[in-house]
Amino acid sequence: MRARLGAEAEAFLAALSQPSRTALRLHPEKGRALFPEAERVVWHPLGRLLAERPDFEQEPFWHAGAYYVQEASGMSLRVFVPERRPLRVIDLSAAPGGKATLLLGELGWEGGLLIANDPDPRRRTALKENLARWGIPAYLVTGRHPAWWAERFPGLFDVVVLDAPCSGEGLWRKDPRAACQWHPDLSTRMARLQRSLLHAAKALVAPGGVLLYSTCTFAPAENEENILAVIAADPAWEAVLWPGELPSAVVPTEGPAVGYYFYPHRGPGEGFFVSAWRRREGALARAKRKVPTGEFPRAGKVPIPLPEGLIAIERGESLQGLMEGAAALVPAPLWKEAWEAHPLWEHSRPAQAAALLSRPLVGFPERALPREAFPAYLAGQPFPAQAPYERVTIEGASVGWLYKGRPSLPFTWKRFLRHR
Ligand code: SAM
Repeated sequence: MRARLGAEAEAFLAALSQPSRTALRLHPEKGRALFPEAERVVWHPLGRLLAERPDFEQEPFWHAGAYYVQEASGMSLRVFVPERRPLRVIDLSAAPGGKATLLLGELGWEGGLLIANDPDPRRRTALKENLARWGIPAYLVTGRHPAWWAERFPGLFDVVVLDAPCSGEGLWRKDPRAACQWHPDLSTRMARLQRSLLHAAKALVAPGGVLLYSTCTFAPAENEENILAVIAADPAWEAVLWPGELPSAVVPTEGPAVGYYFYPHRGPGEGFFVSAWRRREGALARAKRKVPTGEFPRAGKVPIPLPEGLIAIERGESLQGLMEGAAALVPAPLWKEAWEAHPLWEHSRPAQAAALLSRPLVGFPERALPREAFPAYLAGQPFPAQAPYERVTIEGASVGWLYKGRPSLPFTWKRFLRHR
């Protein structure tokens, strides 16, 4: 880093012993008015930098999904998202959901469909909770390896995000575990894995579509060297440059500018690298798709005959959803997450996720509780019921339900109980 940064190296090293800044991204519908005094993140209109770190798990607005706590550098992905809608988007390594919620914020309810994919089942639990809390149901969660997607759906997506697993050098001050696990071999191993993931990610991009590659590390082998080896030399691809003037925190790679570095001494965020590429129009003939969509996949063991143009999303043996173009035909996550049933209950009931939708379900009375009542609500203490199902709001933010006066437990609490 001394060789790379020269005179700036001391400032860089000093920044590593400073605490990281607490940053969050406001929800475009639920959170716009929050933290009006906070400093802005220049590359995201809803990014805010806080002077102090609140105890988020006690905050009703956090439970309501009115914001997502995310370090500032990662919010920069937004500048590369195309403006046209609808978009088919896949986030190949999405957990716990920082980039995925950012992308959903860009899409909104009618702007397309996001596949939020991550092969790690434990991390997918957090991903599902964070997406449900965000409350924009235009997504499907899957747990495949990127190569699985690339084999079946080459050239399908308008935006492919690979926020790759990496050696984590940019996270040392935020997460000391990242420093403890570092080893020169780690970077070499990661670079090899990332290269294979990049090949899969590249195959998924439609003509005119965009590939966004990012890591939280400073190692060139995991960043520009991967990009140069897999994409930059391919004439079917062109670099997408940062639109407008570069903020002072953002530094293009040396030599050919194939990506941008974020350094902790220059800006409010952690170490980060991002690179954006567009597949030129006509660069991939649609006919090149290997798998005719009609043959794929199956629910139970019975193949579903799908008309040409329909895409099915499966997990294990079960069908998770269908999409045509960018429109979800079976909004599986919405129905699965919005209602819950149990053989012992008389009726199915609206689920926690339904209270968190950014456009609340109609037909249920709202119960406004004062902020002072939130700790009791969080602790699961009953309230006198005024209706069978009441949607609870605190200062206008929807946080959950009262089922005959009993609070629905926020996700984190459910997880806590499960782990016990
Ligand atoms: N995009 C996430 C966000 O913004 O919150 C962070 C992603 S994290 C840097 C990297 C992710 O890659 C992890 O969640 C990990 O489970 C996932 N991962 C690990 N191996 C993978 C693989 N072979 N293919 C795809 N994803 C992988």
